[in-house]
Amino acid sequence: MIEISKVVVLGTGVLGSQIAFQTAWSGFSVTAYDINDTAIDQARLRLASLVKTYRKEVPGADAGQEAATLGRLSLSSDLATAVADADLVIEAVPEVIAIKRATYEKLAQLAPSKAVFATNSSTLLPSALKDFTGRPDRFLALHFANSIWKFNTAEVMGTSDTDPAVFDALIKFASDIGMVPIPIHKEKAGYVLNSLLVPLLNAAADLAAGGYAEPHDVDKVWRIATGAPMGPFQIYDIIGLNTPYNILLHGDAHAQQIAAWLKDSYIDKGKLGVASGEGFYSYPPAN
Ligand code: NAD
Repeated sequence: MIEISKVVVLGTGVLGSQIAFQTAWSGFSVTAYDINDTAIDQARLRLASLVKTYRKEVPGADAGQEAATLGRLSLSSDLATAVADADLVIEAVPEVIAIKRATYEKLAQLAPSKAVFATNSSTLLPSALKDFTGRPDRFLALHFANSIWKFNTAEVMGTSDTDPAVFDALIKFASDIGMVPIPIHKEKAGYVLNSLLVPLLNAAADLAAGGYAEPHDVDKVWRIATGAPMGPFQIYDIIGLNTPYNILLHGDAHAQQIAAWLKDSYIDKGKLGVASGEGFYSYPPAN
């Protein structure tokens, strides 16, 4: 029987801070680890901002639950202490294989043998990391979507070495923290979400960059004809234009043409999406 009560989140950036906060919000004891005091100061700011977001966007959120959540959540820049009694370590460090590898090599030495490790990596398959974990049978991917309090899918994907009991325990854990768990039966780059989303976003950019239709009209077709609440360019704005730009830049010649269009028409004009106040749409600041 795999019991999960103490959770450690490695990396307190965009996703790590959300995972740590949501997990503590759901009643678990959480330690969020980052590399130094500067990163920990940043984490405090991110958590404070999540308190405000939950107050606005999570039905029933109140001061009592916010205080209880923060009471269950501690921050640490000492990996050995952070993971000493961990049942589950969720890794959300930068998407750079050398950083992930070094992280797992240290973790393998420091974490107790009972601890399950889960990577939130969006683009690396867990089998690319399993050999560094020292416990391939207790390692798998647990992939969240950005803004996990409302876009609450958790894709669970093991390798051929993952113990089925570990897989099942993570499905249950995902549900316990308010996610809708999605079992992925074998390894797939991009999981379900990005396997669907990336081709849609690329096709939309191809239509607009090629001069076939305006971005707003591409979105209109998608919304009206399929009933979807958002079109692909609204999604671009939420993700932020830099991430798709960087991915396209490493693609073939056609992808690079689309990247150049994103850069010239939007990124170079400071139109980066919701975060900068303007992308394909304008977002007046909230008062
Ligand atoms: P980020 O750059 O916002 O945060 C990374 C954090 O890791 C930073 O706080 C950094 O200080 C810390 N860090 C750096 N080196 C570290 C180390 N050696 N040990 C521990 N922490 C370290 O990144 P992010 O967007 O939160 O992405 C993290 C992971 O989550 C990636 O694998 C990414 O693919 C995945 N992910 C991101 C999103 C997203 O929308 N941003 C969505 C799903 C999954």
